[in-house]
Amino acid sequence: MFREFSCPCGSVKITTLAPPLMMTVCHCSDCTRIHSAPMIEAAIFKETDVTISGATDTFTSDPDREDKTVRHSCAKCHVPVFIHPPKQFGVRTLFPPTCSDRGVGWWKPMAHVYCEGRLDTFLTPACIMDGVPKYLDRPGLMMGSDRLIPVPDGGALQSLIEPLRAKYWSFWILTALLVAGARNYLYHRSA
Ligand SMILES: [Zn+2]
Ligand SMILES: [Zn+2]
Repeated sequence: MFREFSCPCGSVKITTLAPPLMMTVCHCSDCTRIHSAPMIEAAIFKETDVTISGATDTFTSDPDREDKTVRHSCAKCHVPVFIHPPKQFGVRTLFPPTCSDRGVGWWKPMAHVYCEGRLDTFLTPACIMDGVPKYLDRPGLMMGSDRLIPVPDGGALQSLIEPLRAKYWSFWILTALLVAGARNYLYHRSA
């Protein structure tokens, strides 16, 4: 077994056999409205690696589409527990916050998806700094346009602040000594 997931009331239990195929942060208007959150964490598992028990209520946000995505929530506590994307993908989408370990040690987003639908205020600095690509819709791998949104590259920002990190203390001490030395020299020369 890989990890266990459950709704808060414990009626729906989900077990997974292997790590997810893909981990995304979704900003789409369906996910954000359904979860009432500025973005959601989504771990996409191979369908055959997921076992679900307990009664769920279903809901689909695109009822007119033949290949509809079905969202399941616990029949008792009504918390969304998984998504069944169109059948041909052969996957189940689970939510790391409902995992027994809440994603500690394994959750590592690989992409932000549907950034075109994001609540601007909430593409937070932490979100920008995570160094993960931000797709307008989805990566090509997930049959999307593969187009990125223009946000500062997390890696570039990281390299700007990197010298400020504590592990460069020797550099800063040396700089301080050089400045003090230069100041001393200039002071004595002018005296
Ligand atoms: Zn979404
Ligand atoms: Zn429940």
